[in-house]
Amino acid sequence: MSALLEIRGLDVVFDGFRAISGLDLSVEQGELRFLIGPNGAGKTTLIDVVTGLTRPAAGTVRFGGEELVGRREHEIVRLGVGRTFQTSVVFEELTVLENLDLAASFRRPLWSLLRRRRGASPAVERALSTTGLSGLAGQRAGILSHGQRQWLEIGMLIAQEPRLLLLDEPVAGMSLDERARTGELLTEIARDHTVIVVEHDMDFLRRYASQVTVLHEGAVLVEGSVEQVRADPRVQEVYLGR
Ligand code: ADP
Repeated sequence: MSALLEIRGLDVVFDGFRAISGLDLSVEQGELRFLIGPNGAGKTTLIDVVTGLTRPAAGTVRFGGEELVGRREHEIVRLGVGRTFQTSVVFEELTVLENLDLAASFRRPLWSLLRRRRGASPAVERALSTTGLSGLAGQRAGILSHGQRQWLEIGMLIAQEPRLLLLDEPVAGMSLDERARTGELLTEIARDHTVIVVEHDMDFLRRYASQVTVLHEGAVLVEGSVEQVRADPRVQEVYLGR
């Protein structure tokens, strides 16, 4: 079986600086893959390439058999790739439901916007129930706690019905309770999506990660289970600093 995401020979160069260098990565359908690595390893750049924000100097990025390199961001969203950003994309004046509806409309065909719809679409309903935000659907997003806001952003992705979700540090700044809830949420989402998560928190990884890819200097250093990765001397040297 071929992988859902297959990256081969990826190079990204910024003003002569090679941020990604000959990177290969395969992610199978239905995986919950964690991406770690020291600052500057190339994790965000990798996500930027997959989502069409950054164009690589060389290499291929195949998603479900389609080549993503050279495609525009909105085309990549339509093909089923969704991502969160480190900066918030939530509209504070809109309700939780309106934010989800708006996100869903980015993938909806234009004609469907002309139809009068009653209630939330199935994708928005799913986003509400998966994220546990149903009870807050009518509340302004501006009143949400930090954790709830992060879940809303994940919900906004789910509402777009992607096949692949790319999440950049989803538990950053969260309380322990919120982290646990996010771990459960990721596990649930991975039941019917493929998910790639950039995350540094080792406790979080130990609890929720099965497959981990370690990046270093723009290439894959090691791949394996959390235990395998943690035990690898190369990882200890570059990432854990031991
Ligand atoms: P990570 O997410 O693993 O911390 P990044 O992908 O953000 O790493 O960055 C990888 C390297 O590329 C870093 O050295 C960073 O300074 C550099 N870099 C990232 N984006 C740009 C850019 N737009 N212009 C120049 N250098 C960049």
